[in-house]
Amino acid sequence: MFDSLSPQPQDPLLALIGLYNSDTRTDKVDLGVGVFRDETGHTPVMRAVKAAERVLLDTQDSKSYVAPEGDRVFIDLLWTVVGGTDCGKAVAGVQAPGGSGALRLAADLLAKAGKTRVWVGVPTWANHLGIFGSAGLSVQTYPYFDVPSQAVQFDRMTAALESAEAGDAVLLHASCHNPTGAQLTAAQWAVVAEIVARKGLIPLIDSAYQGFGAGLEEDAAGLRTVIAAAAESLVAVSCSKFFGLYRERTGAVYAVGGSQSAVETARSNLVTIARTSYSMPPDHGSAVVRTILATPELKADWIAELNDMRGRLISLRQGLATAIGNHWAGSTAVAGQQGMFSLLPMKEADILALRKDHGIYMPTSGRINIAGLKQADVARVAATFVPLLG
Ligand code: PMP
Repeated sequence: MFDSLSPQPQDPLLALIGLYNSDTRTDKVDLGVGVFRDETGHTPVMRAVKAAERVLLDTQDSKSYVAPEGDRVFIDLLWTVVGGTDCGKAVAGVQAPGGSGALRLAADLLAKAGKTRVWVGVPTWANHLGIFGSAGLSVQTYPYFDVPSQAVQFDRMTAALESAEAGDAVLLHASCHNPTGAQLTAAQWAVVAEIVARKGLIPLIDSAYQGFGAGLEEDAAGLRTVIAAAAESLVAVSCSKFFGLYRERTGAVYAVGGSQSAVETARSNLVTIARTSYSMPPDHGSAVVRTILATPELKADWIAELNDMRGRLISLRQGLATAIGNHWAGSTAVAGQQGMFSLLPMKEADILALRKDHGIYMPTSGRINIAGLKQADVARVAATFVPLLG
């Protein structure tokens, strides 16, 4: 049987890690995989996470199973960060193994409810397409971003959404768009909210980078505008980036809107899907997040460190954009983008030459992870980019 299978390509970003690791140059630069890094190139365990882990080490007295829906206190506290303390809607959530697991549960729920189509922006995080396809949904696309001009294609996006049909799902990135860093303005979020409400579309909002853009509250504003307007929404939350819990596979999916009994029914279906997929989620990451959010001093320290991480991203981004300056018209847009990523108009051959000649590693899509820069690298990286942009 195994012989009848065809080998699958390695994920290009994971393959890039291997190439980077085997490069012996000391001044190599990793702008590939999407994790936060500090000035030493390290992805740190956040202070509040360490402190919460110490508490858990002392107080946790059982490793018995958690419930299939996960830790209800974690689910409720996380929602206060994402949806606010009162979003004015019925909400029911289920813990999930990371944002990817949350998206998969949401996609399976859509399929179970008889929904067949999900609209995603172009470009988007590649795994969106894989997850939705694996759940049996048909993926439709709306234009989102034009790489050469670095501009959101808002008129084209809304024209595409106007052609969607009632009951279609629409994937939206809550903040810090992956791979472009390009945000909708508050006014544009309001237009999207009006369209989804009027047409009876189901927003599926992917929140993976809250706090990395303009601030913890600011980055949730668009999401909150949409869920306030839409009859029903799904929200997939990843704790990988804003709690730095990547490998702990921590996240949640929320059904929002309609009656309390309707969201409870959605929750029971999400639980059934989870139960038949992996039975129950891992506990450690959610116990850490619960402990942080339930302890005022830890929560304050978490926010303080998150603010510093955002400050580092903004400073590097502005440094890079300034160093590129008027050599490329897109530099102003890059300076204003948010989060870890920007998508640069570079040719594949040039990106491969950057690796070979300069030890600068980025995927052939042209996406860069700003957090992979060190302040000392900015001028050199900008100088190698300038001749390739445009
Ligand atoms: N959504 C987006 C847009 C992402 O970039 C990621 C991580 N790269 C995720 C969701 C999922 O993250 P995880 O499964 O690691 O929590």
